[in-house]
Amino acid sequence: MTLLLDSVRRTEVLANHTSFRIGGPAELFAEPATMDELIHLVREASRSGVPVSVIGGGTNCLVADRGVNGLVIRLGRAFRTVDVLEHEDPRYASVRCGAAVVTQRLVGLAGRYGWDNLEGLAGLPGQVGGAVVMNAQDIGQFVERVRLVSPTGELATLSRDQLRFSYRYTAMQPGIITDVTLAFPRVDPQTAAARIRHVLRCRNDTQDVRWPSAGCAFKNPAGTSAGRLIDQTGLKGARIGDAQVSFRHANFIVNVGQATCDDVLSLMEHVQRVVGQRFGIWLEPEVRLLGERWGLGR
Ligand SMILES: Cc1cc2nc3c(=O)[nH]c(=O)nc-3n(C[C@H](O)[C@H](O)[C@H](O)COP(=O)(O)OP(=O)(O)OC[C@H]3O[C@@H](n4cnc5c(N)ncnc54)[C@H](O)[C@@H]3O)c2cc1C
Repeated sequence: MTLLLDSVRRTEVLANHTSFRIGGPAELFAEPATMDELIHLVREASRSGVPVSVIGGGTNCLVADRGVNGLVIRLGRAFRTVDVLEHEDPRYASVRCGAAVVTQRLVGLAGRYGWDNLEGLAGLPGQVGGAVVMNAQDIGQFVERVRLVSPTGELATLSRDQLRFSYRYTAMQPGIITDVTLAFPRVDPQTAAARIRHVLRCRNDTQDVRWPSAGCAFKNPAGTSAGRLIDQTGLKGARIGDAQVSFRHANFIVNVGQATCDDVLSLMEHVQRVVGQRFGIWLEPEVRLLGERWGLGR
């Protein structure tokens, strides 16, 4: 496969770009620093038939041990800016946020300038682009529009109606989100900051952040919590290789050493089978697999 651009690196180890600390190399890897560079890269890849994947903060991704075929893009400098915009209604604040902005930076600005209702995002790892794709913590409620680069390198704007946000889901056409316009009700900054602090305390009390993970492994089934179901089957502490069901939060699978992607997937399958047999509910993964699980034959 050829993609002869100076900015493209070979065999970048993706474990270094994921919160799980798991994953083989990207065949090709690039961090475009500008919009022009990104568009050029995507067009070249499209012309050469090179498949393109995108990774944000890597906090909801499980990368295959054999790595990822084709080009993996991680957005660079130009996609890390936050611009405050005029909103037609003075009771609202509006911002254009680069997709590679770390979500906690946005939360920090909300506490400083008094943007309301963002406390749900407090402590959420990763970047704004990834959060929009996952509709993490219902970030979609704030989204007015999204710009993305299509697989053939065209820049498009999608309105919130086209995105149809629902639980951990965004109906998005394939492409790379470059920036997101969000609007929030204004509130006194002290109130916003106090709410954010409260959520951060609750999060620290419940989540397992001692070990690398990708947060919740499974989506909550309608009307119940995946963590509760897993807990009730007694699977806390269950382990395959160095992948373990967290003792602290049953829906977290943690990497307690040198876990491989296959350890994690095998443990997830085990959890699905046990919960399925006990409750008749098939848990749907929340974690996104990047690359293929090759050569296992299971
Ligand atoms: C300790 C911990 C706690 C967590 N708690 C929560 C929680 O409370 N609630 C929750 O919802 N999630 C939670 N998560 C999961 C995760 O943090 C969120 O889903 C986060 O918003 C993902 O953002 P990211 O940038 O890391 O996305 P990534 O993991 O990098 O990517 C996620 C998906 O989005 C795609 N993607 C990323 N960026 C772009 C882009 N610019 N354009 C197009 N596609 C893109 C990727 O290809 C992938 O399919 C947690 C994770 C951890 C490790």
